[in-house]
Amino acid sequence: MLAVRNLEVVYNDVILVLRGVSLDVPDGKIVALLGANGAGKTTLLRAISGLLDVHDGEITKGSVTLDGEPIHRHNPAKIVRLGVKQVLEGRRIFAELSVDENLRTGAHTNGRHTKENLDRVYSLFPVLKERHKGTAGYLSGGEQQMLAMGRALMSNPRYLLLDEPSLGLAPLLVQQIRDLIVEINKQGTTVLLVEQNATMALSVAEHGYVMETGKIVMDKPAKELLDDSDIREFYLGLG
Ligand code: ATP
Repeated sequence: MLAVRNLEVVYNDVILVLRGVSLDVPDGKIVALLGANGAGKTTLLRAISGLLDVHDGEITKGSVTLDGEPIHRHNPAKIVRLGVKQVLEGRRIFAELSVDENLRTGAHTNGRHTKENLDRVYSLFPVLKERHKGTAGYLSGGEQQMLAMGRALMSNPRYLLLDEPSLGLAPLLVQQIRDLIVEINKQGTTVLLVEQNATMALSVAEHGYVMETGKIVMDKPAKELLDDSDIREFYLGLG
């Protein structure tokens, strides 16, 4: 299990952004992390993936553990080797490279299982297979999101951290991404899903956390969050 305990994160030595966050991502599950813009969701993902440094952020208290072992002092590469992989918001891909080349950059550096993982990614995302020689920069927004997810899956991670995969996509594509998340999870990958689209996230997740200004303010089974009209209105903006 991936576990976050009492995590405090500060940017630029002064701006306190996470104020004692605790969260569990049990193996095999999909967990949703919801909350308004600026609540600290991306910061929490960065803290788990070891990516705070590059943003002048720092963990000042608390821990991130994997099967009970602290990982929050590890560098990002080591965290990836341990099986925790983040798909960045804004779907960073290499626009000049082909789809195939982009996917290969996500593979293990020792080339182990590259073919096998590539086949798996192409079977999950047939549209990427069709365009495998095409330049990534010419893909549509939805296809670029799929490419970013596919690239992350090339190392066959145990945990996939998704940062707003539905952002800016048309409803039909949101549906497709949703179905893909379910399929990826069925194939054995545990998912932590950060979303503004609460309905989508809670329709796939078993458990949901809601963040507000750096704190977890709700922590409940997804169904309970969806069914409670007060929560829907006040925390999820669903009316
Ligand atoms: P969004 O959906 O907008 O990404 P979020 O819930 O993911 O929101 P974060 O991106 O984690 O929130 O941001 C939380 C707070 O931290 C915001 O107030 C933001 O301005 C601040 N913040 C984020 N990155 C930095 C940084 N590199 N330096 C200083 N402050 C930052």
